[in-house]
Formats: sequence, structure tokens, C-alpha cells
Amino acid sequence: MYNWSEISAQISSVTQSHFNAQQVSAIGGGCINQAYCIADEQQRYFIKLNTAQNLSMFEAEAAGLKELVQSDTIRVPHPICYGQNNHTAWLVLEYIQFSDNTRGNDADLGAGLAAMHHIHAANFGWVRDNTIGNTPQINTQSSDWVFFWRTHRLSYQLNLAKTNGYTGKLQSLGEQLLIELDQFFDGSSPQASLLHGDLWSGNYNFDDKGHPIFFDPATYYGDRETDIAMTELFGGFSNSFYSAYRHEYPLDSGYNVRKVVYNLYHILNHLNLFGGSYRNQAEQMINRLLAEIR
Ligand code: ADP
Repeated sequence: MYNWSEISAQISSVTQSHFNAQQVSAIGGGCINQAYCIADEQQRYFIKLNTAQNLSMFEAEAAGLKELVQSDTIRVPHPICYGQNNHTAWLVLEYIQFSDNTRGNDADLGAGLAAMHHIHAANFGWVRDNTIGNTPQINTQSSDWVFFWRTHRLSYQLNLAKTNGYTGKLQSLGEQLLIELDQFFDGSSPQASLLHGDLWSGNYNFDDKGHPIFFDPATYYGDRETDIAMTELFGGFSNSFYSAYRHEYPLDSGYNVRKVVYNLYHILNHLNLFGGSYRNQAEQMINRLLAEIR
């Protein structure tokens, strides 16, 4: 079991309020890190632990949460602090009590996401890189969205796939798609919206008042269709979520094809993280996209 005194001391120092972890409970449900709730009689915090070399992942997550907090749209946990010793890196967040039986208001979730997407930046990308899963996600800023998506999203993951041994058909199809990518954006001019960036159903919930909560973001500024596409990839979002979103911020008709361009990024990332059948799925998605433009 981890020795919590270092983390308790850091929390006490940054919050200026004495804290000494007395109760520790493990929390499941995450993909990458070990998660815990630590508490004393007055306070409790949500903690993620990983090996020391993952400190920059936690720094980026804290910065992303801060950006989302500042948007004042959907509630996210406030970042408290992060740190490392020789073995372990940690991230300390506000602990949020989720609702246990009522699901909360899906329409608020949709409207809140639309409000977040109405926060715009001058350029696509972000002031720092972060991670998607634990794969690096490059956010070098650009005024050209198609360039950004081609270079920092699809091409980056395809190159990683090549390094991981996924050569052959996936790579030749991928090269064709990258050449043709502009065609999927005819008549559309995406704006740089504040994104969650990793919006699957495991990364939202509702607090004990039924208000929506986002957590575990891979924040940057980009086409808002990327967040909506990801909600469709693994399911778990209701019709009232989509109708509230579209009511606040309607989607262009080209979305139905572009969502495949966008979800390909996450499927390639899953291939790089988990291997297996994601290779077939990625190839099928690229074939489907190439068929659209031939
Ligand atoms: P990982 O980075 O490993 O994917 P998550 O950020 O998804 O971990 O967190 C793991 C689980 O912890 C989530 O599924 C959620 O149920 C819970 N959780 C996340 N953030 C908080 C928080 N601030 N307060 C309470 N529980 C949280």
C-alpha cells in the first residue's frame, strides 16, 4: 500500500488546511491509472497514481481540467496538486460524489457540452501537448484544421501503428486517406471549440444533485464534431442528450461522414494501445471513407 504522508503534506501545503489521509479506498472504472479516495474527518480527495515517469501526463490532465473549470460550463473536478517521488507520480483532484441511483439530466449534459463548444480559440490545438489514453497527443497550434487533423491526429497514429508493426494494407489505405482528406471538408469551416477530447461514456457522470460532470479529459481546441463523433463510437449517450445538444448548437449535414474521419483517430489509438481487432476496424473505416469520394 502506498505511503500517503507525502501526498497529505502536499495537499496541506497547497490548500493551507491540515490534511492527513486516514481512510483510503480504491476506486475502479479507470483505464490507465490506479484511483483512490483518501479522507480524514473533514476532507476527502480523489487521487490518481502511476509510475514517476507519468508526471507530465498528470500535469497535462490538471491543466486540461483547469481550462474546463475556467469555461464555467460543465462541472469538472478542480485540480488540487500533482507531484512525484522516485517511484510514483500522483494527481490530486477535488473528490466528487456521484449520484448513486438517479442518472441525472441528460438534456443538461447536451446543453452543457454545447456551451463548452461555444468557447472558441483563435487556433486549433492547445498551449501544451497531453495524452489520449496514455498515448502522446500533439497539440501544436495551427490555423488550418485539416492540416492539424491530418498531421497531429491521423498521421501521428498511423506512424505509431507502423512502429508497432501494423504495416501493409493499413498503411497504404491510410496514405490514400491522408492525401484525400480535404475532400471531407468541402463547404465546411470548422471553428476551434473547447473540447473534452476523450468523450466516451466512462468519462461523464452526474453529481448527487443530478448535475453533469466531465472528467478525464484530453483537452484541446478543435472541431466540436470530434467530441460528438466519439460519443457515438462506444455508445452510452441518450437521445435527450443529442436533441439538447443539436437544439443549442446544430450540426452540419456533412457530420455523418466526417464522424468516421474523426473516430478513426480513436480506433487507431485503440489499435496502438490494445492491438487485436482494431486493425480490421480501422481498415474498414478507411475503405468506407474512400468509397465516399470515389
Ligand atoms: P483513468 O485516468 O485511469 O482512466 P478516470 O479519470 O477515468 O481514471 O477515473 C477512474 C474512475 O474514478 C472514474 O470512472 C470515476 O468513476 C471515478 N472518478 C473520476 N474522477 C473522480 C472525482 N474527481 N471524484 C470522484 N470519483 C472520480
